[in-house]
Amino acid sequence: MMRDDDELDEDFPLGDGTVDTAATVQCPYCSEDVEISLDPGGGAEQQYVEDCQVCCQPWRVQVAYQEDGHADVTVTALDA
Ligand SMILES: [Zn+2]
Repeated sequence: MMRDDDELDEDFPLGDGTVDTAATVQCPYCSEDVEISLDPGGGAEQQYVEDCQVCCQPWRVQVAYQEDGHADVTVTALDA
């Protein structure tokens, strides 16, 4: 039986062009405002590690997409 990757869309419909694909966050280490890219295809709830573009410290990035496509992005220090 074939798996259909589109099954994600049942929980998280995309395609109306209003989904956030970037967010500006404040680095918990150097306090700089940094714009990061988001991947809506990763799902409505995401958590991953990304290095600060300014000071190269590792962040824990948590992304939570709302039904209207707005992404709530939280960045915390990885070692906190
Ligand atoms: Zn930083």
